[in-house]
Amino acid sequence: MSEAPNYKAELVGVFGHPVAENPTIVMIEAAFRDLGLNWRYLTLEVVPEGLEAAVSGMRAMHFQGINLTIPHKIEVIKYLDRVAPDAQLMGAVNTVRKEGNELIGENTDGKGFLRSLSEDAGVDPKGKRVVFLGAGGAARAMTVELAMAGAASITIINRNSERGNSLATLLNENTETKATYLPWQPGISIAEGTDVLVNATSIGLYPNTFDKPDIDYDSISESMVVCDVIPNPPQTVFLDEAAKRGAHTLDGLGMLVYQGAIGFRMWTGLEPSVEVMRSSLEEAFK
Ligand code: NDP
Repeated sequence: MSEAPNYKAELVGVFGHPVAENPTIVMIEAAFRDLGLNWRYLTLEVVPEGLEAAVSGMRAMHFQGINLTIPHKIEVIKYLDRVAPDAQLMGAVNTVRKEGNELIGENTDGKGFLRSLSEDAGVDPKGKRVVFLGAGGAARAMTVELAMAGAASITIINRNSERGNSLATLLNENTETKATYLPWQPGISIAEGTDVLVNATSIGLYPNTFDKPDIDYDSISESMVVCDVIPNPPQTVFLDEAAKRGAHTLDGLGMLVYQGAIGFRMWTGLEPSVEVMRSSLEEAFK
C-alpha cells in the first residue's frame, strides 16, 4: 500500500523590521535543498507593535522555530517560555526553537563565532587575551561566549562609554574573565601580547566597504589572530590591513554560516553542510 501524501511543509523563518535585505533565507534554504527536506524559511516583516501577535501566530501555525533580527532580539524574550542561560546573560535572543509546546530562546551569534574561531582558525579561546572593537549586540554575544569558554581577559574598546562600561561590568560580574573598558581614542594601539583582535563594529559593512576602524594598524603583530564580524564583503579593509602585518585573519562570513548552522540543527536535529551554506551566500553577495 502506498503512503498517504504529505503536502505540509515545516516552517521556520525570521521576524525583522526592516527585513527585506536579510540574507539568511539563502543559506538555510540551500541547506534544506541539500538535505532534501520539505521545510521553508520565510522572511517576515514584523513591526514592533506586531511582535506579540507574530509569536502567537507562529505557535498557532506550528512553526518549528524562528530567527529574530533588528529590532526584536530583546523584546521577544517576554513572549517565550524559557531562555537559555547564555542568551539570558546577553539579554538577547536571535533564535527560537521548540521543545514540545514550549518556545525556547537561544543566541547563536557568539556560538557561531566560537565555532568559526576553532574550526577555521584553529584557536581555542581558553586562556587567550582578547581585544574587542565595539560593544553592541554582536560584541555582547561574542564576549559572553568567549568568557564562558575561558578567555583570560577581554578588553572592550568602544566609542560610547556607557555601552562599553556596561559590557565590561556584565562580564566581570557574571564570568571568570577579567574585562576592561577602554575609551576609543583615534589611532588607538592594540596592546602587545593580544592573542585575538575582533572588529565587532558595523564599520566596513556594505555599501561602506572602504571604511575601516580608526586604530594604529602598526600595533598589529603576526602573532595575533584578527577577526571581523562583517560578512559582506567577507574580505574587509580591516582584514587586509591586518594581513599586511602578517596576522592570521578570520572573516565574518564563517560566523554567519556557523550561527545559522547551529540554529538549523536546533530546529531540524540534522547537521547541515556549512560548505553549501557558505557558497550560497558567496553567490548572493557577488
Ligand atoms: P549594534 O548597532 O548593536 O552595535 C554597533 C557597534 O558598532 C557599536 O559598538 C558602535 O559603537 C560601533 N560603531 C558603529 N559605527 C562606529 C564608528 N564609526 N566608530 C566607532 N564605533 C562604531 O550592531 P550589532 O552589534 O548588532 O552589529 C555589528 C555588526 O556585526 C553589523 O555590521 C552586523 O552586520 C555584524 N554582525 C555579524 C554577524 C555575523 O554572523 N557575521 C552576526 C551579528 C552581527 P557605539 O556604541 O559607540 O555607537
